[in-house]
Amino acid sequence: MSKFQVDNNGFYGEFGGAYVPEILYKCVHDLQDAYLPIVESDEFKAEYHALLRDYVGRPSPLYHASRMSRKYGCRIYLKREDLNHTGAHKINNTIGQILLARRMGKSRITCETGAGQHGVATATVCALMGMKCEVFMGATDVERQHTNVERMRMLGAEVHAVHTGNMTLSDACSAAIRDWCCHPQDTYYLVGSTMGPHPYPDLVARMQSVISEEIKWQLQEKEGRDYPDYLIACIGGGSNAAGTIYHYVDDERVGIVLAEAGGEGVDTSHTAATMHRGTTGVLHGSKMLVMQTEDGQIEEAFSVSAGLDYPGVGPMHCNMFVEGRSRVLAVNDDEALAAGYELTRMEGIIPAIESAHAVAALAKLSFKPDDVVVLTVSGRGDKDIETYLRFPGKE
Ligand SMILES: *Cc1c(COP(=O)(O)O)cnc(C)c1O
Repeated sequence: MSKFQVDNNGFYGEFGGAYVPEILYKCVHDLQDAYLPIVESDEFKAEYHALLRDYVGRPSPLYHASRMSRKYGCRIYLKREDLNHTGAHKINNTIGQILLARRMGKSRITCETGAGQHGVATATVCALMGMKCEVFMGATDVERQHTNVERMRMLGAEVHAVHTGNMTLSDACSAAIRDWCCHPQDTYYLVGSTMGPHPYPDLVARMQSVISEEIKWQLQEKEGRDYPDYLIACIGGGSNAAGTIYHYVDDERVGIVLAEAGGEGVDTSHTAATMHRGTTGVLHGSKMLVMQTEDGQIEEAFSVSAGLDYPGVGPMHCNMFVEGRSRVLAVNDDEALAAGYELTRMEGIIPAIESAHAVAALAKLSFKPDDVVVLTVSGRGDKDIETYLRFPGKE
């Protein structure tokens, strides 16, 4: 068994587990018992893959970026999750979980969202399946990300503004968990990243693993071998990264490089560099690296990219990081924005600012000419145009 995948008790090394209030014991245990038999059944797989193909638009292309390759002196391929329906990788996960929820007989979906991307992806699949959707979102984010709020409402979701704490993602998670506690019978909590109590980190990683499943055969076609020398992805909670590396975690030939959000710098108080700055703690039902004060108060994460400013990071990635399997680079706001402009001007692809963090990692690495590099573009930048324009690129 892989030491990087979840063990029978729901842990990745010392991280993970299911630290939930008593009232959710039954819900979480029911889900732990139900998820594997369902997601491994032929019937589930057929429906999931048909929707990924016909509704999401998969497989997403693996694109050889020739101008970027020349610049960095290696062979760079972009895994185009930005081309998915709703504009990012998040739909892979929500499609899978809504099918699971339906098979578990649930009729009402609750979720958290930060920038609104997961809320939109969840509201989308709820519309698709005719299910009731409750989205919890920090009041600060409701204001900052108004178009996504309107998209969710148009899709039929009820968006609840959360007024506790910093009124951002972390508070939205707590509110969604509270909602689940109040409706344990009919409600399915649809988690948006590789976080939360076991089995969510494993469940979400499996639903995103289609990314590396495709990379394997796409590389075989283009390079005559099914593995790259490097995989690069940005990391917030860790879901697009988990999907990108899933089928390669035990393959020592493959270097894994993850870009977390440095914000204004890892040594400042305005950062979301959880692996560089975090210490072990429990947040939202899981043991992981968390940015916290000495007495365990959660510190607010800060990044120009709303999708990366979570004060924790999924347990799978915490374990791979402390075991030395992955290399984690902190990319600051200005570096990410510049890299976003670079990809835009060199390849005609405007990446989400989250994804631009992965692009910025290229300049921090050194490559050999034959190195094959696969970089996941987790989402498109349409939602970020205003932010980009506030920081005009050079040239
Ligand atoms: C939400 C989001 C992320 C961060 O989430 P992960 O779970 O770490 O993947 C990254 N990129 C985009 C485009 C997102 O919407």
